[in-house]
Amino acid sequence: MRTLLRVLGAARELWPYYAGIVLASVGVAVTGLVTPFVVSAATGYVVAANDGGESGVARVVWFAVALLAAELANTLLSNLGGYLGDTMAARLRATLSTRYFAHLLRLPQRYFDNELTGTVINRLTRSISETTAFLNMFANMFFPMLLTVVAILGIMAYHSWPLALLLAIIYPVFTWLTTITSVRWQALESTKNTELDIAGGRFAEVIGQVRVVKSFVQERRELASFEERYGRTVRTTQVQSRYWHVMDTSRRAALNVIFFVVFALIFVGTLRGTFTIAVMVLLVQLVTMARQPVLSMSYLVDSGQRAIAGSRDYFSVMAEIPERDELPDLSGPQRAPQHAAGVDLDGVTFSYEGTEDVLKDVTFSIAPGERIAVVGESGGGKTTLVSLLLRLYGPDSGTIRVGGTDISSTSLEALRADIGVVFQDPALFSGTIRENIAYANPGASDGEVEAAARSANAHTFVTRFPDGYDTQIGERGIKLSGGQKQRIAVARAILKGAPVLVLDEATSSLDSKSERLVQEGLERLMADRTTIIIAHRLSTISSVDRIVTLKNGRVDEIGPPDELARTGGIYAELLALQASSTSRDRARL
Ligand code: ADP
Ligand code: MG
Repeated sequence: MRTLLRVLGAARELWPYYAGIVLASVGVAVTGLVTPFVVSAATGYVVAANDGGESGVARVVWFAVALLAAELANTLLSNLGGYLGDTMAARLRATLSTRYFAHLLRLPQRYFDNELTGTVINRLTRSISETTAFLNMFANMFFPMLLTVVAILGIMAYHSWPLALLLAIIYPVFTWLTTITSVRWQALESTKNTELDIAGGRFAEVIGQVRVVKSFVQERRELASFEERYGRTVRTTQVQSRYWHVMDTSRRAALNVIFFVVFALIFVGTLRGTFTIAVMVLLVQLVTMARQPVLSMSYLVDSGQRAIAGSRDYFSVMAEIPERDELPDLSGPQRAPQHAAGVDLDGVTFSYEGTEDVLKDVTFSIAPGERIAVVGESGGGKTTLVSLLLRLYGPDSGTIRVGGTDISSTSLEALRADIGVVFQDPALFSGTIRENIAYANPGASDGEVEAAARSANAHTFVTRFPDGYDTQIGERGIKLSGGQKQRIAVARAILKGAPVLVLDEATSSLDSKSERLVQEGLERLMADRTTIIIAHRLSTISSVDRIVTLKNGRVDEIGPPDELARTGGIYAELLALQASSTSRDRARL
């Protein structure tokens, strides 16, 4: 019930449409009620004429004209209601989607670690379609239904209140019977939605990484498990539908008994002279019409249940707690970085949900403009360090300061504006190379884009494409090589112009020569910027000011490269290891 109110509340600002639909639908109901009266009056007139009363064809024509007018008004109003309904549905779709998207953009990284994209999208689509259908049905049916019931019962009561009372019992009893069937139905609907969400999540993932599926020849298995999930929803739907329709048949059978008792009583009353023929015709038509609201009620409850079940997951996503700050104000100008900012980590300890501590009491400082490298084994927490710096996650204890301010007290927007980052997995977007490089500064000139690309050693390969900077790179940049993607990602970070630059194995896919070119391009940029370089290849980091080595989540050593080379710690070991493999490679050449 609470969900239902929320569903109705979701359309709050659409009330003018809603009111329009309600008015139109009430008009439809009223014009629909005209017919029995006209037919009854015509019958009365004809019966009276046959008994020797006044008779004129003109009067009969007027009855027909009245019927036609009512019918025309009825058609017109129901189409107007339909138009308003379509518009409301479209607006509702826009509102729900935008709100959902805005909310998702505010959710913490942690949320996305645990959800599949396809599932998240599925929930929205389902909620939109079920909510729209329900609201439309509600607006169109509810008030006319009430009105029709009240009018029918009122008119019946005028002629015979016991009959009206008998008929009146039907509605609350039917509503009650319908509602109690809903508990089981809802449970089945939930099961089905979960299956659909799992299937949808896998669907998006498989299509997004179809290369892997193809290369491991797993199409058949993926398809089979997909079919299996949908097969399960078919079975659930069958059980659910059978249940619903058996219940509905019994309900209606019970109702029909009451209807026919009322019918019989009307005829008996007429035979006994309680009702005239004209009144009998009126009452029979009213009782016939009284069945429609019962059907409407059953559709409405059915649709309401779907809306509740379909929106439950939507509202559960909307109930997730957002990252502390509001969405960055996208309309404002990108804040121009003023100075190089230092970075300090002080006793930082961190674990992901349910993992052991990935970082333990990590403490070190980077001076403004300093170039520092972070070295350590794979899975040692280097990328995690970057995530903490961006406050994608908050540390369990300890503080991180950028430019002297604790990042837990700066706005996320301001913090992230200060950091240009190249992620280990160079995530690009579909669109052109230009759009990707200028992602942080959509207003950047062609010259700025090109300069950034030159620094990242990307300009040469970009200009070799027939479309140059206008080349479409496909979803996640799938049409580019790993090294090309990395260089576009480096150019994107450069163009952002932030005082802190973080390169998380940003050149790992490049050959040594290209890597050196990127290094040279970055040299000038790094001069006035605090730079954190995470790298495996030690040649990448030979020109840094200091190196931090991580071991088992702790800082092991820290110092200038030549000093660490002498002390014989991890760095020296790695150095020796790489030197021997390089000389072996050389020997093989
Ligand atoms: P590195 O970059 O040094 O190779 P990471 O920082 O990526 O290492 O990972 C450190 C550890 O944290 C790994 O053991 C990894 O399994 C774990 N980890 C990384 N990301 C997550 C996450 N989102 N949720 C849970 N555990 C994670
Ligand atoms: Mg990493």
